[in-house]
Formats: sequence, C-alpha cells, structure tokens
Amino acid sequence: MNNRTNEIIACTALTEGTYCGAELHKGKTYGPVNLPLCTLHAAQHFTFYTQTYRNNVLGELEKAGTVSHTPGLTYVIELPNSRIKIGTTRDAGTLVTRWKSISREYQAEGHEGFIEPLAVLEGGASLEASLHNRFRHLRIDDEFGEQFRAEPELTDYALAEGIPAHLNDAVTAYEQWRDQRRSKRKLSKALEAAFTWNA
Ligand SMILES: [Zn+2]
Repeated sequence: MNNRTNEIIACTALTEGTYCGAELHKGKTYGPVNLPLCTLHAAQHFTFYTQTYRNNVLGELEKAGTVSHTPGLTYVIELPNSRIKIGTTRDAGTLVTRWKSISREYQAEGHEGFIEPLAVLEGGASLEASLHNRFRHLRIDDEFGEQFRAEPELTDYALAEGIPAHLNDAVTAYEQWRDQRRSKRKLSKALEAAFTWNA
C-alpha cells in the first residue's frame, strides 16, 4: 500500500455515457484545473479552449481593425505527416531552430521527412491566433501541435503570402541543414543495408 490511493489514474471523459478509462496524458492530470484526461481527450479539450476563447477573441479584434500584431514571426509549414502547422516564434534565428526541432521530433516518431516552409508572416502570437481562427474549420482536434488539414484554401493562402526576402538566409540555413541530414541518413541506411547483406 502507498499513500496515493486517492489519485485518479484514468481518463474520466464521458463518451455516450461511458467513461473513457484510458491512461492519463503524460501520466498526470491536465491543465491548470487538473483534469484527468487521456492524450486524445486532453488534445480535444485544448482545441476547444483555444478555438472558443483565445483564437476567437483575437480573430474578432483583427476583423474590427483594433489589433496591431504582437512582435515576432508566424510561420506556416507542411509537417512530415502532410498536415499543416501554423506556429509562432521570436525571430529569424529561433525560426530555424524551431523548424529543425520539429523535424527532429517527427523523425524520432519514425517519420522520414522534414518540415517544408510555406510562408512566414510578420507578427507574433496575436497573428498566429488570428490565423488559427480564420482556418479553424480545418483544424485537426485529435492531436496536440495545432495541426490543420492541408486543404487548398490554406496552402494557397500560405504560398501566396510566401517568405519575405529578408528571411531568405534563414530559409537557406534550414534547407542546408535538411539536405545534409538527408544525405547522412541515406548514407547510414546504405551502410546498414551493406552490413546486413554481409552478415
Ligand atoms: Zn480519454
């Protein structure tokens, strides 16, 4: 026996009158009010919260022309799982770092590809929220990471916005890193195959 028997250890989300019962997201309760939710239900809750409160408020302010965006950059990228991510970061330096780390996260989960930049816009968290609101009907609610379906409505918008010239160096730095890593992976796969063949 231990003294933690009162802890809730399973997801208490109700679906059609039945408790979910799945393992808790990251093994603990979720959010500021400690909801006992599994990863799927925590992701759905997070999506509902951001769409209903944060993004909606900022989207309305922008429509009314009463918001000038917070400093920073907002990027639109295609993820290795073919979904779209709209995210924000401080500047050109952190932009490249972020793109690399997202690519690495997906590769750690077994994806082959890299993120592909589609657009970068001037404006930080408030612009990001405004775009999340604008494309909310494309949002995927079963995963964290604020992902969107790659519908032409969103990809055409992103490609039309494009990447401003002053960020060309940042994009080139990312692409060089990507290409190097890609050829390293090809080489190690080839070596692996050769060794398997000889074994
Ligand atoms: Zn659940």
